[in-house]
Amino acid sequence: MRESVLVIGAGIGGLCTALSLAPTGRQITILERDGPPPAEDADVVFLDWHRRGAGHVRQSHAFLARLRGIIKKHHPALLEELKELGARELTFEMMLSDIQRDRYEPQPEDEELTIITSRRTTLELALRNYVERLENVTIRPGFFVRKLLTEPDEDGVVAVQGVAGEQDERPLELRADLVVDASGKSGFLIQQLMEEGAGITEESETAGILYFTRHYRLLPGQEEPDRTKSPPASGDLGYIKFGVFPGDNGCFSVTISVPEVELELRKAIMNPDVFHAITLQLPGIQPWTNAERSEPRGKVHGMGDLHSRWRDMVIEDRPATRNYFPLGDTLVRTNPLYGRGCSFAAVSAEMLRETLEETTDPLERQRAYHARLRKELRPYYINQRTQDRSAIRQAEAALTPGYRKSWRGRVIESFFDDGVRIAVRSDIGLLRQAMRGFHMLEHPNKWLGKPGNFARVLYYWSRGKKRNARAYPPSPGPAREELMTALAIDHRADLRLPGGEDKLAA
Ligand SMILES: Cc1cc2nc3c(=O)[nH]c(=O)nc-3n(C[C@H](O)[C@H](O)[C@H](O)COP(=O)(O)OP(=O)(O)OC[C@H]3O[C@@H](n4cnc5c(N)ncnc54)[C@H](O)[C@@H]3O)c2cc1C
Repeated sequence: MRESVLVIGAGIGGLCTALSLAPTGRQITILERDGPPPAEDADVVFLDWHRRGAGHVRQSHAFLARLRGIIKKHHPALLEELKELGARELTFEMMLSDIQRDRYEPQPEDEELTIITSRRTTLELALRNYVERLENVTIRPGFFVRKLLTEPDEDGVVAVQGVAGEQDERPLELRADLVVDASGKSGFLIQQLMEEGAGITEESETAGILYFTRHYRLLPGQEEPDRTKSPPASGDLGYIKFGVFPGDNGCFSVTISVPEVELELRKAIMNPDVFHAITLQLPGIQPWTNAERSEPRGKVHGMGDLHSRWRDMVIEDRPATRNYFPLGDTLVRTNPLYGRGCSFAAVSAEMLRETLEETTDPLERQRAYHARLRKELRPYYINQRTQDRSAIRQAEAALTPGYRKSWRGRVIESFFDDGVRIAVRSDIGLLRQAMRGFHMLEHPNKWLGKPGNFARVLYYWSRGKKRNARAYPPSPGPAREELMTALAIDHRADLRLPGGEDKLAA
């Protein structure tokens, strides 16, 4: 008899689990606390879908090549349905710098670097419609899971047998062979297992930023700015990072991430007028948000509590649970700036299918799932965590008057800014390989670890700024003090002045 699977959550992880497991014939029931999409129209869904369980659905999302590749390989019809709803594909060619475009010769593998871009609600709508039509999948909206039904084994492993919760205020218990927990970043069920003595470990630290997003719509007759003629629509000014996320159906959003330590700026930016004014100060964003091109829609969506978090369900070869498989944000969270969360969830769902098809032994399944996740996801997790730590240090330095980097720090910064960055903006082959790492098609550090590539980077670095001049992008925007003064924000309030109090600590 085929196994029964309860999936908690119909967000990206839950829906990807259904995509992954449905072809194996297992009977899948997805339990989702929120109601179904209110309509079939992407605009209505964006405006009216109550998603209390996933407060970030109106934040900018882009979907990496790895996720698109999984959809394309296993469910090509879904990719078509996504496009019918307005989602778009951005190709590798569109990511080339202005000095690379003329020399570009397409390679077959470039197709693998295509990304999907749309409002997240549109992606969810398409995924959900598709999953709902799969024969062996049922989605039960309005089902709030309160508790896992568990039983400790003699050897201290917690066996999960089902869930208890309520639907339409009716208490219910459901049992199944397997429980997949895709309840997202605020999911609390894994905590229950820890309290019951399951040997689960967790490492967690702040990503150091807050996310601020506002949506825009192109005015009638307007098109998106020509990428070949405008400055890059994303950038890093040290005290903020920003980017345009092209969306579906004439929509796009702008996200500005602000370091946690910039207390005044992060307060001020929630004002829609201030947010809009900042976009107009950024040469790469202004062509999108100026009054002839588009109009802003609605409020600024702010989001904090952004953490990197990694949980291990097997410690020293000893599984913590049986028949329970967490995936998505409840297992691993990453800084949204890298756009990897949805791909992490989709890859985990793939790893789960491979594991379940490989063995029926419950403890072996735990070990195999754990080993696959460590191998597949851990390198990206470590890579982005290292970058977060460095960005946090930079943001603090920006607030410390008179701060001077160490000699070593300056060399490293120059290696990345004047070496790596210039090499990938100049050499299409290097960009192609770096992108494979970024999009999770290869180990993130593989390309730079190849001696030939490293030598190319050194070549560009040693040429010096003058000879590389064409490869430097135009300035992404004003310095901190200049921008804040223009917006009447007190630029001195958060400086780490001698004797000043650290407001974050307070
Ligand atoms: C600001 C921000 C921007 C991001 N940008 C990107 C991006 O550009 N690209 C990208 O790939 N990733 C991005 N991410 C990450 C991505 O959104 C998450 O990694 C992804 O949503 C994880 O999927 P999930 O299924 O684990 O959780 P979710 O998608 O959050 O889904 C969890 C689901 O579980 C339901 N649920 C929760 N508890 C219960 C319960 N007790 N009972 C029943 N149902 C329950 C919720 O209602 C929800 O539907 C971003 C994240 C944030 C915060």
